[in-house]
Amino acid sequence: MKPYIANFRFYEELNDFLAPECHKKTVEYRFDGRPAIKDPIETLGVPHSEVDLVLVNDESVGFDYRLRHGDRVAVYPLFESLDISPLQHLRAKPLRVTRFMVDVNLGKLARLLRMLGFDSAYGNRLEDGEIVEIAVREKRIILTRDRRLLFRKAVSHGFWVRSDDPETQLQEVMQRLDLAGQVKPLQRCLQCNGLIESVDAEQVWSSLQPLTRRYYSEFYRCGDCRRIYWEGSHVEHMSEAIRQMLGPRR
Ligand SMILES: [Zn+2]
Repeated sequence: MKPYIANFRFYEELNDFLAPECHKKTVEYRFDGRPAIKDPIETLGVPHSEVDLVLVNDESVGFDYRLRHGDRVAVYPLFESLDISPLQHLRAKPLRVTRFMVDVNLGKLARLLRMLGFDSAYGNRLEDGEIVEIAVREKRIILTRDRRLLFRKAVSHGFWVRSDDPETQLQEVMQRLDLAGQVKPLQRCLQCNGLIESVDAEQVWSSLQPLTRRYYSEFYRCGDCRRIYWEGSHVEHMSEAIRQMLGPRR
């Protein structure tokens, strides 16, 4: 039996990562030596990228803090509203521009994020290693249903998406990262994440169906894949979907 014991308590959404018998309870953790506190947190199932604050015996510590016998550890997720600014946050500073790297099985979420104007990289054939590499290189927040991905050392910003339903997933991300103020609809191509821009009808005339030519006059085109969007079809559909997703508050 390992000689030392520390008591861990995880707060709020971090309980989602724990074994059911540990939910919202003090967890006894046995160890030997002096492990950095990041190790027991991850051993208990919580990816470091989800943790914003660790208190040991009521003092905030960094991930390199060495655990001692008898320590009382409180682990908190990213706070939305509670002001903890005087305490030391573990996460690197929030990324100034919100950009996402969306994991392979979340294609619908990527489209919804693009619909709201968020730069959301996605490729359905990427390996885990490539996802992490792109996220780090382009300073993107990883969104994934696979929490193991967030245990990788290089990951600094990630969010484990809980729901299976794309619209609920979008709400989770919007709420957790408090993104409502950053929504810029009709800026991104749903297909490829490129920026869309307004174009004159003549520029896209030859690519349009006769009925589209007859009824619509405002057109947009993706700067990357050249896909065409127009007022009344895609655009209205997107606006309506956005209104529904953001709810009556906006
Ligand atoms: Zn495009």
